[in-house]
Amino acid sequence: MLTGRTALITGSTSGIGLGIAKTLAQHGANIVLNGFGDAQSAMAQLREYDGMVGYHPADMSKPAEIAAMVRYAETEMGGVDILVNNAGIQHVSPIEEFPAERWDAVIAVNLSSAFHAMQCVLPHMRARRWGRIINIASVHGLVASVHKAAYVAAKHGLVGLTKVAALETATTGITVNAICPGWVLTPLVQRQVDARAAAGGLSNEEAKRQLLAEKQPSLQFTTPDQLGELAVFLCSPAADNIRGASLNVDGGWAAQ
Ligand code: NAD
Repeated sequence: MLTGRTALITGSTSGIGLGIAKTLAQHGANIVLNGFGDAQSAMAQLREYDGMVGYHPADMSKPAEIAAMVRYAETEMGGVDILVNNAGIQHVSPIEEFPAERWDAVIAVNLSSAFHAMQCVLPHMRARRWGRIINIASVHGLVASVHKAAYVAAKHGLVGLTKVAALETATTGITVNAICPGWVLTPLVQRQVDARAAAGGLSNEEAKRQLLAEKQPSLQFTTPDQLGELAVFLCSPAADNIRGASLNVDGGWAAQ
């Protein structure tokens, strides 16, 4: 279904981004990977599919590097048809102790990067009269938790940015939507499990159980593959008129 389309997935050397990249590749898309993790391993996992695979090391907190990455996608694969703004970082701390430098970093990587990347890819998408922008927000784009001031602010901002971009492209073949996952067991969340285990003298399994029980009624982690399948659906003709939506995949978290 996606043969001939090129997808750029930011922060795709691990976790959700890598899962989405694999699922889009399974459906035929060419893939541009990005992120600070093991790029060689991520590329190797994608080479089993038919499409082209590339990687660009842009630091998503740096607008000039984002622009260079989009130019790389244009030169190597003809331009970005599907943009998945996924790169994200977390910092957990009460507001009074939250380092200003971590606030700036979380806002830059989780929110501003999506604005800069969109600005770079929209001209190509408009020229092609087709495009998909999928912003990986979070259930924290819809509701808050303590000690995540920058993350919650960035993700609420990303949900708002999604709506504006969807309105500005509403009469075109470009759609812009957000996916709002609850807990997904990736390196980003494993670090929070580890902190909980260390603080409470708990086993890894008990820390995971407690983490889920606090917020996610299904008591199950969402998987990167499930998010990948949702991204594929958003790229399908069935989703042509889904615009500005925030789709939560959160085991019932936001329903409470
Ligand atoms: P992860 O830590 O496994 O992956 C994050 C990716 O972003 C990595 O590839 C990392 O190298 C990359 N990255 C970090 N800083 C970067 C930078 N400055 N420039 C380029 N790449 C950078 O995390 P994940 O859990 O897969 O998170 C992916 C996205 O999903 C994030 O936006 C996160 O907020 C969101 N999310 C995660 C969960 C969850 O439970 N894991 C829930 C909701 C939303």
